Amino acid sequence: MPSPAATATDNPLLDFSGLPRFAAVTPDHVQPAVDQLIAACRQTVEKLAADPAPPTWDNFVIPLDDATEQLGRAWGVVGHLNAVLNSPALRDAYNGALPAVTQFWTELSQDERLFAKYKALRVSPGFALLSVAQKQSLENELRDFRLGGADLPADRKARYAAVQEELSTVMSTFNDNVLDATNAFSHFVESENELAGLPEDVKAVAREAAGKDGRDGWKLTLHAPCYMPVMQYAAYRPLRERLYRAFVTRASELGAEPKWDNTANIRRILALRAETASLLGYRNYADVSLATKMADSPAEVIRFLEDMAAKSRPFALKDWDELTAYARAELNLADVEAWDVAYISEKLREKRYAFSDNDVKQYFPEPQVLAGLFRVIETLYGLTIAPAKAETWHADVSFFDLRDRAGALVGQFYLDLYARDAKRGGAWMDDAINRRRKNGSIQHPVAYLTCNFAAPVNEGGEQRPALFTHDDVITLFHEFGHGLHQLLTEVEILGVSGINGVEWDAVELPSQFMENYCWEWDVLKHMTRHVETGEPLPRALFDKMIAAKNFQCGMQFVRQLEFGLFDMRLHAEFDPAKDDLQRLVEEVRAAVAVVRYPAFARTAQSFGHIFGGGYAAGYYSYKWAEVLSADAYAAFEETGVLNPETGARFRHEVLGRGGSRPAMESFTAFRGRKPDMEPLLRHNGMKLAA
Ligand SMILES: [Zn+2]
Repeated sequence: MPSPAATATDNPLLDFSGLPRFAAVTPDHVQPAVDQLIAACRQTVEKLAADPAPPTWDNFVIPLDDATEQLGRAWGVVGHLNAVLNSPALRDAYNGALPAVTQFWTELSQDERLFAKYKALRVSPGFALLSVAQKQSLENELRDFRLGGADLPADRKARYAAVQEELSTVMSTFNDNVLDATNAFSHFVESENELAGLPEDVKAVAREAAGKDGRDGWKLTLHAPCYMPVMQYAAYRPLRERLYRAFVTRASELGAEPKWDNTANIRRILALRAETASLLGYRNYADVSLATKMADSPAEVIRFLEDMAAKSRPFALKDWDELTAYARAELNLADVEAWDVAYISEKLREKRYAFSDNDVKQYFPEPQVLAGLFRVIETLYGLTIAPAKAETWHADVSFFDLRDRAGALVGQFYLDLYARDAKRGGAWMDDAINRRRKNGSIQHPVAYLTCNFAAPVNEGGEQRPALFTHDDVITLFHEFGHGLHQLLTEVEILGVSGINGVEWDAVELPSQFMENYCWEWDVLKHMTRHVETGEPLPRALFDKMIAAKNFQCGMQFVRQLEFGLFDMRLHAEFDPAKDDLQRLVEEVRAAVAVVRYPAFARTAQSFGHIFGGGYAAGYYSYKWAEVLSADAYAAFEETGVLNPETGARFRHEVLGRGGSRPAMESFTAFRGRKPDMEPLLRHNGMKLAA
């Protein structure tokens, strides 16, 4: 018998009666809580697996959800604290418990007894009586078991596992080669003239780097903080060419070291993915990837990308003409090469749209921005947002209730806005508690909203509000979009409530949707107030911001479409045993790109998103989600951007549905039709002829 279980009073991580007890949690609580919760989960799994009764929602899914939800919630608190209030002791506790947690989730996803129970429930007479959300949640479970190889006969299961293991090794080698090839390159510059145009801080770092190697002059590398400014600002063309060539030949047969050449690894990765697909009974790996996504087929994605390319390419060509004309006239550059593009763009942008981010910042003090954001949410969805009391992890963190107009609680969120030591960088939304029906009543959703903005400063004893850049404001709105997806859910089933179970290529719809409000004059007028003068943002400055946002959008578009098409065709049509990789790269490029890329460019060999990460046959998602969010926003443009009726429909048909039905169904229910790409193009200054 295990020793008597610790109670919530001993260990705050085991208290699920309400909000997390942040003030009481210490690193010492982590391991015992995790051990106890995993043991409880395993006990539940064993009990359910041994139960001879036919599985029903109530006797099987609910007890399993109840047990795993507790582990998820407690581990969520630990992970959150590890990210926002890191300390050596907490980090040790987190890393100490992590393997056991990971191992348990893996074990759960491969438990054949549970898989058999889900299958039995699926074919039981009770299935027909389940709600849409319950059915969807069950189908997702079955799909994920199958995609993990659980349905294969023993011999093929072993092969499946071996393929996955080799795949993860080769992908990791792919990444290592890119990293090693990147790290190995350096270019020493002896004469400062060759660095003309480069920002002083970049030069200072390069000088220091040379000094560390015991050399005079400046050491340039292919790391982003050096490579990007060189391409953007360095006036000396041979320098740009030198670094560009090194960058686009990294980890290829044209790179510095044959041992880092990723060409064979790419073939192996593609062969292993093709084998994965055939073991699971799919035609190709693109079909496997799309099984968990909103897009139905590779053909649909390819059509989408080609259609978008056809529409945006004329604008890209116009951008290109502008760029080359400017280069000829003002920079004395007749033949624009790939290594000139960023440099010329920067010069043209400065000339046309220069404004200071710092000037803009003065119009976005925190109280005004938050009030503006809350006003948008309150108006759109008929809600009120008010500060509330809760234990937090830091004095700067605030907590809010979200209530409907009748005063009933809808959800709650923590807001942790400022950068500080021991806090992970970036911005994100995470779930603390998910909405679900439990023992007859509703458990309200709770979200974490975390950013890393500059904190308020104390000037001569006077506290000045934090000032946000316009990018900060966009980030805040973006994360709130994710937050509203979590908080405004109407779903009562854990697996598909909030953002749970939402298709991968639809997750960014609500977040990118919210960004649109940061470019809306009627919203900005009320959301801006100069910190000294009290004036709202001047219209002329706003117009400049819009123009700068849309600058060379055509060229940026076709670049992304080129990557997306290459990725999808590679995983849908390409045969690694006989087809020529570079030929596919060039074929896609010829169809889509407007920049003239040199024959030596080997971009596939360092395309980490698809060969070393999770974006295989998924790169298109960036543009896909943008089309959805822009088209959803267009419904508001048609009826008034703060129209509460449109808001109510968006909430009910899209935000409220979570993963309880296919995202395309939610979208068409809201929009009355399939997505249209025109609004995205229009929002980026590419207005199609009627
Ligand atoms: Zn996002």
